[in-house]
Amino acid sequence: MNAATTSLLDQAQAATHHSLAILQNVAVRINGACNESQPGPIAARLLERFHTGVHTLDIAFCPHLTATTPQPAFWVPYAAGLIRCPACMSRRLHRSLKGTETHRCDNCRRRAVTIHVYGVQIPAVVLELSDRAVSLPPVQIHFGLCPPCKQIDQQPVKATA
Ligand SMILES: [Zn+2]
Ligand SMILES: [Zn+2]
Repeated sequence: MNAATTSLLDQAQAATHHSLAILQNVAVRINGACNESQPGPIAARLLERFHTGVHTLDIAFCPHLTATTPQPAFWVPYAAGLIRCPACMSRRLHRSLKGTETHRCDNCRRRAVTIHVYGVQIPAVVLELSDRAVSLPPVQIHFGLCPPCKQIDQQPVKATA
Protein backbone atom coordinates (compact mmCIF):
# COMPACT_ATOMS: atom_id res chain seq x y z
CA MET A 1 0.00 0.00 0.00
CA ASN A 2 1.49 3.36 -0.93
CA ALA A 3 1.70 6.47 1.23
CA ALA A 4 -1.21 8.22 -0.51
CA THR A 5 -3.53 5.28 0.18
CA THR A 6 -2.40 5.05 3.81
CA SER A 7 -3.05 8.75 4.28
CA LEU A 8 -6.49 8.47 2.66
CA LEU A 9 -7.32 5.52 4.94
CA ASP A 10 -6.38 7.65 7.97
CA GLN A 11 -8.58 10.49 6.73
CA ALA A 12 -11.47 8.13 6.02
CA GLN A 13 -11.21 6.65 9.51
CA ALA A 14 -11.09 10.11 11.08
CA ALA A 15 -14.15 11.14 9.05
CA THR A 16 -16.03 8.04 10.23
CA HIS A 17 -15.19 8.86 13.88
CA HIS A 18 -16.25 12.47 13.35
CA SER A 19 -19.51 11.31 11.77
CA LEU A 20 -20.19 8.95 14.67
CA ALA A 21 -19.57 11.79 17.14
CA ILE A 22 -22.13 13.94 15.27
CA LEU A 23 -24.65 11.09 15.42
CA GLN A 24 -24.03 10.62 19.16
CA ASN A 25 -24.51 14.37 19.75
CA VAL A 26 -27.80 14.32 17.88
CA ALA A 27 -28.90 11.29 19.91
CA VAL A 28 -28.11 13.05 23.19
CA ARG A 29 -29.91 16.20 22.05
CA ILE A 30 -33.12 14.35 21.26
CA ASN A 31 -32.86 12.01 24.28
CA GLY A 32 -32.11 9.08 22.05
CA ALA A 33 -29.55 6.33 22.21
CA CYS A 34 -26.74 5.14 19.97
CA ASN A 35 -26.18 1.43 19.73
CA GLU A 36 -25.08 -1.28 17.39
CA SER A 37 -28.29 -2.94 16.36
CA GLN A 38 -29.52 -4.79 13.33
CA PRO A 39 -31.72 -2.57 11.16
CA GLY A 40 -35.41 -3.46 11.23
CA PRO A 41 -37.28 -4.30 8.00
CA ILE A 42 -38.01 -0.66 7.09
CA ALA A 43 -34.47 0.52 7.84
CA ALA A 44 -33.12 -2.44 5.87
CA ARG A 45 -35.26 -1.43 2.86
CA LEU A 46 -33.99 2.15 3.08
CA LEU A 47 -30.39 0.93 3.22
CA GLU A 48 -31.02 -1.24 0.18
CA ARG A 49 -32.54 1.75 -1.65
CA PHE A 50 -29.48 3.81 -0.75
CA HIS A 51 -26.97 1.19 -1.92
CA THR A 52 -28.87 0.56 -5.15
CA GLY A 53 -29.09 4.31 -5.81
CA VAL A 54 -25.34 4.73 -5.34
CA HIS A 55 -24.60 1.80 -7.67
CA THR A 56 -27.00 2.92 -10.41
CA LEU A 57 -25.85 6.55 -9.99
CA ASP A 58 -29.44 7.63 -9.25
CA ILE A 59 -27.98 9.10 -6.08
CA ALA A 60 -25.26 11.69 -6.71
CA PHE A 61 -22.86 13.55 -4.42
CA CYS A 62 -23.09 17.29 -3.73
CA PRO A 63 -20.15 19.17 -5.33
CA HIS A 64 -18.36 19.60 -1.98
CA LEU A 65 -17.83 15.90 -1.42
CA THR A 66 -14.77 14.62 -3.27
CA ALA A 67 -13.19 11.19 -3.62
CA THR A 68 -9.97 12.30 -1.93
CA THR A 69 -11.18 14.32 1.07
CA PRO A 70 -13.64 12.17 3.02
CA GLN A 71 -15.89 14.10 5.42
CA PRO A 72 -19.18 13.26 7.15
CA ALA A 73 -22.02 13.11 4.64
CA PHE A 74 -25.78 12.75 4.91
CA TRP A 75 -28.62 11.11 3.02
CA VAL A 76 -32.34 11.47 3.68
CA PRO A 77 -35.02 9.46 1.87
CA TYR A 78 -37.33 12.46 1.33
CA ALA A 79 -34.63 14.20 -0.74
CA ALA A 80 -32.98 11.08 -2.05
CA GLY A 81 -31.19 12.38 -5.14
CA LEU A 82 -28.10 13.66 -3.33
CA ILE A 83 -25.62 12.65 -0.67
CA ARG A 84 -24.89 15.97 1.03
CA CYS A 85 -22.00 17.57 2.91
CA PRO A 86 -22.89 19.10 6.32
CA ALA A 87 -23.48 22.59 4.84
CA CYS A 88 -25.75 21.35 2.03
CA MET A 89 -27.61 19.10 4.49
CA SER A 90 -28.31 21.93 6.89
CA ARG A 91 -29.59 24.09 3.99
CA ARG A 92 -31.86 21.24 2.91
CA LEU A 93 -33.08 20.75 6.49
CA HIS A 94 -34.00 24.42 6.76
CA ARG A 95 -36.07 24.09 3.63
CA SER A 96 -37.85 20.98 4.83
CA LEU A 97 -38.59 22.49 8.26
CA LYS A 98 -40.48 25.25 6.50
CA GLY A 99 -42.13 22.83 4.10
CA THR A 100 -44.38 19.83 4.44
CA GLU A 101 -41.77 17.22 5.37
CA THR A 102 -41.97 17.79 9.12
CA HIS A 103 -44.15 15.23 10.82
CA ARG A 104 -44.29 13.10 7.71
CA CYS A 105 -43.33 9.43 7.98
CA ASP A 106 -40.51 8.43 5.59
CA ASN A 107 -42.04 5.00 5.11
CA CYS A 108 -45.81 5.40 4.62
CA ARG A 109 -45.63 9.19 3.90
CA ARG A 110 -48.55 9.81 6.29
CA ARG A 111 -48.42 12.73 8.68
CA ALA A 112 -48.24 11.99 12.40
CA VAL A 113 -47.97 14.11 15.56
CA THR A 114 -45.14 11.92 16.83
CA ILE A 115 -42.34 10.97 14.48
CA HIS A 116 -39.57 8.69 15.76
CA VAL A 117 -36.23 9.79 14.35
CA TYR A 118 -33.53 7.30 13.37
CA GLY A 119 -29.97 7.65 12.15
CA VAL A 120 -27.89 4.90 10.59
CA GLN A 121 -24.14 5.26 10.13
CA ILE A 122 -22.35 3.78 7.12
CA PRO A 123 -18.55 3.93 7.54
CA ALA A 124 -16.24 5.47 4.95
CA VAL A 125 -14.76 3.14 2.34
CA VAL A 126 -11.40 3.44 0.61
CA LEU A 127 -10.79 1.75 -2.74
CA GLU A 128 -7.29 1.26 -4.08
CA LEU A 129 -7.34 1.55 -7.88
CA SER A 130 -4.37 0.80 -10.11
CA ASP A 131 -3.26 4.42 -10.30
CA ARG A 132 -4.83 6.08 -7.26
CA ALA A 133 -6.98 5.58 -4.19
CA VAL A 134 -10.48 6.96 -3.83
CA SER A 135 -12.81 7.17 -0.90
CA LEU A 136 -16.54 7.11 -0.32
CA PRO A 137 -17.42 9.32 2.65
CA PRO A 138 -19.05 8.01 5.82
CA VAL A 139 -22.78 8.51 5.25
CA GLN A 140 -25.45 9.06 7.88
CA ILE A 141 -28.93 8.10 6.82
CA HIS A 142 -31.61 9.95 8.75
CA PHE A 143 -35.27 9.06 8.62
CA GLY A 144 -38.45 9.41 10.65
CA LEU A 145 -41.20 6.86 11.28
CA CYS A 146 -44.76 7.25 12.50
CA PRO A 147 -45.79 5.04 15.48
CA PRO A 148 -47.36 2.20 13.36
CA CYS A 149 -44.27 2.06 11.08
CA LYS A 150 -41.99 2.11 14.12
CA GLN A 151 -43.84 -1.00 15.34
CA ILE A 152 -43.29 -2.73 12.00
CA ASP A 153 -39.60 -1.75 12.03
CA GLN A 154 -39.14 -3.35 15.45
CA GLN A 155 -40.12 -6.76 14.15
CA PRO A 156 -37.12 -8.90 13.21
CA VAL A 157 -36.23 -9.13 9.54
CA LYS A 158 -37.48 -12.42 8.12
CA ALA A 159 -34.71 -14.54 6.73
CA THR A 160 -35.24 -15.28 3.07
CA ALA A 161 -34.40 -18.81 2.08
ZN1 LIG B 1 -22.24 20.25 -0.25
ZN1 LIG C 1 -45.51 5.49 8.68
